[in-house]
Amino acid sequence: MEALERAFELLSAGPICDTCLGRRFARLGKGLTNSERGRALRVVWALERGEEPAEPGHCWVCDDVFVQAEGFARKALELVRGYEFETFLFGVHLSPYHEAVEDFLRKRFPSPWAEPLQRDVNRALGRAFEELLGAEGREARVDFRHPHVRFTVDLWKGDVEVYIAPAYFYGRYRKLVRGIPQTHWPCRECRGKGCPRCNYTGKMYPTSVEELILPAFLEACGGEGGHLHGAGREDVDARMLGRGRPFVVEVGRPRRRTLDLEAVAERINRAAAERVEVLDLRPAPPDLVRKVKDLKARKRYRARISFAAPVEENDFRQALDELVGEIRQRTPTRVRHRRADLVRVRRVHGISGRLLSPTEAEVEILCDGGLYVKELISGDEGGTRPSLSELLGAAARVTELDVLEVLDEL
Ligand SMILES: [Zn+2]
Ligand SMILES: [Zn+2]
Repeated sequence: MEALERAFELLSAGPICDTCLGRRFARLGKGLTNSERGRALRVVWALERGEEPAEPGHCWVCDDVFVQAEGFARKALELVRGYEFETFLFGVHLSPYHEAVEDFLRKRFPSPWAEPLQRDVNRALGRAFEELLGAEGREARVDFRHPHVRFTVDLWKGDVEVYIAPAYFYGRYRKLVRGIPQTHWPCRECRGKGCPRCNYTGKMYPTSVEELILPAFLEACGGEGGHLHGAGREDVDARMLGRGRPFVVEVGRPRRRTLDLEAVAERINRAAAERVEVLDLRPAPPDLVRKVKDLKARKRYRARISFAAPVEENDFRQALDELVGEIRQRTPTRVRHRRADLVRVRRVHGISGRLLSPTEAEVEILCDGGLYVKELISGDEGGTRPSLSELLGAAARVTELDVLEVLDEL
């Protein structure tokens, strides 16, 4: 009965709509909308007073925002015309008037059963939006975590904005030739503006794995800009073989999210002819970007090595055996300008190889992700210990490097 008394008090305070009345008692009773709940309270109040239960023309609490819900939903629908989406979410910015009324209600008509206006408006917008979609024979559902389209309704300005979430696709790439960086690499001289050194391309290398893969996705999605997020990256001069390296492609403002990925793969592989190849393409959840970037997978490498002085077969074998185990590696001199300078401990799990001549060898290495293989061989002026060079007492360097396998479980 306490609720009834409070409801009557509120009804006496001024013209209020059923939804706003019912919302003050939202947690009472099940299976009713706020509007139905408000209507019931109004009917009881009218019976007590021998009056006709009629909703007022204008509500002082919501300023008739629920009447406007359909209009906002219509604007929202127009904003995403031509965009594919299966999930959506509405967000509402209350006007200063609404904030003040909410505050006033909390103080003057406290109710332990009340629900915030914002949530009620959100729901009304969502429902109106679903109905409009339904009238066009379309469907979408609310997703609180990763909606494809997210609307923000500003009740103060009376406008609607949309954020169209990127589309994500997982895949693996093989890089079959050397001399291709993973992503666009601006010219060192001009920083991308164009100069004689880069032949006015603004780039250090004519193309990149990203530039060979992304355009097909952009076109298939009808998207605006994107990225290739790789699970680590091999050196520009290293090939990436085996099952390839995992990546996630992110496409901004996609018009299409459901792609014929086989056709996309075919297109990429044809255009990148024998340079880069993609496999295992599939749609990906947004969280996969983080997972792929943080991936610490073991890798198998093949390296060609050249020695500054002749090496004995026995010494070579022994050095390989001794290289298995923990390696202390300082950030290599060649990347110290762009990576934090620190010492990491990584493991070599196995290594085998043969001398091709007294000054040349080929080895296969199985090691932790993040181990720099070139420095494992050269020693990097004492930055990596132990190293093949240190164990042999002869300068050694990698002349060719291939990643044979990235051993992940993605
Ligand atoms: Zn109202
Ligand atoms: Zn340049």
